[in-house]
Amino acid sequence: MDFDFTEEEKMLRDDIRKFLEKEFAPIANERDKKGPFTREEAIDIMKKFKKIGVAFDPESAKALFVEDPSIYGIVSEEVGRVWASLLPIFGMTGLPAMFIPLASDETQDRLIPKLERAELIGCFAETEPEAGCDTSDLKTTARLEGDHYVINGTKTWISNATIADVAFVGAKDLSTGTESFFLVENDISPFDTNELHKIGWNAAPTGEMFFENCKVPKENEMSSMMSKAFSDPKMMELLPISEGMMRLLSQFSPFTALMTLPRCSMGLASIGIAQAAFEASVKFARERVQFGKPIGKFQLIQEMLYNMNVLIETGRLLGYKAIDAITKGSREARRLSSMAKVYGGEAAVKVTYDAMQIHGGLGLSDELPLERYYRDARMMTIPDGTTEMMKLITGYTILGKGFSAYK
Ligand SMILES: Cc1cc2nc3c(=O)[nH]c(=O)nc-3n(C[C@H](O)[C@H](O)[C@H](O)COP(=O)(O)OP(=O)(O)OC[C@H]3O[C@@H](n4cnc5c(N)ncnc54)[C@H](O)[C@@H]3O)c2cc1C
Repeated sequence: MDFDFTEEEKMLRDDIRKFLEKEFAPIANERDKKGPFTREEAIDIMKKFKKIGVAFDPESAKALFVEDPSIYGIVSEEVGRVWASLLPIFGMTGLPAMFIPLASDETQDRLIPKLERAELIGCFAETEPEAGCDTSDLKTTARLEGDHYVINGTKTWISNATIADVAFVGAKDLSTGTESFFLVENDISPFDTNELHKIGWNAAPTGEMFFENCKVPKENEMSSMMSKAFSDPKMMELLPISEGMMRLLSQFSPFTALMTLPRCSMGLASIGIAQAAFEASVKFARERVQFGKPIGKFQLIQEMLYNMNVLIETGRLLGYKAIDAITKGSREARRLSSMAKVYGGEAAVKVTYDAMQIHGGLGLSDELPLERYYRDARMMTIPDGTTEMMKLITGYTILGKGFSAYK
């Protein structure tokens, strides 16, 4: 058992850390207060990330997801440590981008060059006003008409909705009665959006999406894209799917398998936020003097630092253990990634709360980033599966068939 990153992973982590410290740390606090990124700002961010290899054109995506999936965890943790609002910008582009090489020729011709130039923003649109945790009965429909699907419905709480070029949209396929996903290109199949406001991730756009008779090529439906991949080894090579992920796809539904890595990413990004709050607290505990000594000499402060530190260490181990299970294609990936998501998010809430407490009045002011860490941490327990749903998935995977609490 090796608890350390490889030399290559360490170098990469250091490079990513340096990059984030240089490009984003100096602006995060002030820019975050101004609200959601414009599309131009988001593209600028994507281009900067591409320079360090975080991009979703087929070649970069392979390096990110296939060669060593831990890298995605490292990127998520480091981004969380500096500015959590950056996470959805690239995190939510990954899923639609993965399907672009399998879409209709026209879609590919238009979108692959944009992907190559890191000029494409994506979103994943599943949640609806009446379908939050329970997405088993989506009201959004896709009606097959000749060589097109026609999509109608409303989505809500969608990251990147207002700036997305392409959306991967969940809808009930009226020809089969089952849920599927559709790659929808905003320029060609327009949809309307509306910004939503929230307590944290202030710079990350989140919105509603309205699809009204939105026409999408038949070939851009998920199962036809998947069968294209499985029937052609050359297509398969284009996809950023590791051997481990292939094994997961053979054991679980595509959605369950593909969500394992984003859930680890959320768990580790949460640990990144917690780490930033912890580092600030250690520094402050050494420097702030009360009753004639640094507050770090008081046992109650040390107890808080202990609690923060153990949550971070445990959440980090769980996150990377879950990624290891994904890399191996182990069935355990579902349970571990659900646990990593819950543990990391809840740990970040507790750690950032204590960090504010250690900072006293300053912790509550917006001069320091503590209040941003706290608000951003609070965001981590809802998207990509709420704490409660992740616990129920864990319960089901422990107990086995017949023990689903919600089906
Ligand atoms: C900032 C942000 C970004 C998001 N980004 C995206 C995105 O990009 N794409 C997307 O599709 N969605 C996105 N979401 C939506 C998110 O996935 C949903 O908010 C989430 O699934 C919960 O749905 P809901 O808000 O409707 O809550 P509800 O489903 O109404 O749940 C309310 C409460 O009840 C609990 N609950 C529900 N069912 C059970 C049960 N069976 N047992 C125990 N407790 C239960 C929940 O855990 C929660 O605490 C985002 C949300 C936010 C806030």
